[in-house]
Amino acid sequence: MLVGIDLGGTEIKAGLVDRDGRILIRSSIVTGTGRSYRLIIEDMQKQVEKLLKDYGTSIDGIESIGIGAPGLMNDRSGYVIYCPNLFWENIPLGIMLHEHFNKPVYMENDANAAALAESLFGSTKGAVNSVLITIGTGIGGGIIIDHKIYSGSHFAGSEIGHMIVGPNFYRCNCGNNGCLETFASALAMKKYAVHRVEIDGIKTSITNINAKTIFDAAKEGDQLGIETVDRMIKYLSIGIINVFNLLDPEIIAIGGGVSKAGSYLTDKLKEEVGKMYFTHRIQYGDIVLAQLGNEAGLLGAAFLGINKYQK
Ligand SMILES: [Zn+2]
Repeated sequence: MLVGIDLGGTEIKAGLVDRDGRILIRSSIVTGTGRSYRLIIEDMQKQVEKLLKDYGTSIDGIESIGIGAPGLMNDRSGYVIYCPNLFWENIPLGIMLHEHFNKPVYMENDANAAALAESLFGSTKGAVNSVLITIGTGIGGGIIIDHKIYSGSHFAGSEIGHMIVGPNFYRCNCGNNGCLETFASALAMKKYAVHRVEIDGIKTSITNINAKTIFDAAKEGDQLGIETVDRMIKYLSIGIINVFNLLDPEIIAIGGGVSKAGSYLTDKLKEEVGKMYFTHRIQYGDIVLAQLGNEAGLLGAAFLGINKYQK
């Protein structure tokens, strides 16, 4: 059995997972961001102990513990390098969990963990090389090369959301201008639509502007909805074609809240990306919707140890 932990800014999801990818038991607790990291890690330890007890097993029955979190994780040193949502810098998360449980502990960026889960059990299953792009408030990316997570030389790779795709009217949280997530995330769509209404005075039927209402309005022919979706598709397609040109994966999966737009989104992406291939002599990868939803982070985290150190 494996332990998977999805450490987020608002909640910590943990579960016991078997080798076939079945989540046997799970729980969710409030992260309580802003408290001392020691208290948060102690809560996580108690959460895992309760899961073991409730399932009627003990830590002896566990192979390894894996954690995914929205940040840069140094899996070798056991330190979280940087995790802005938790206000964490150089936090010995892996070390503390290892000392407490005396089991191997593995850590990864949460989008990489989710990409691993999709490649083992979901939308990209069977692909040797695949990429997951998660689109919510921001944009995350996970890269699987030769069936394994690629996290870069400094644990800072696969930051697809911060790929620069063109000048924008506002800056990204990272300090740069032009990041993909400032064009194609749910927040980016909202900001652009509001900007067009307030600065350009465009008329719209949308009352409560958010990614969902923008997609709905576009389908009904609302001008602002159409323009906002078209702009999002244009820049997301630039990001995707950059990924195809750089990595040539067999498949790119789109996950996160915005992927609820479904085939309406992927059909538009395929059409736009299809126009941008630099040669039509090559069969490029497919673009699909992710399948595992919110479970992907926990599931992928559980399999980190197996993915990193076994063929
Ligand atoms: Zn950025």
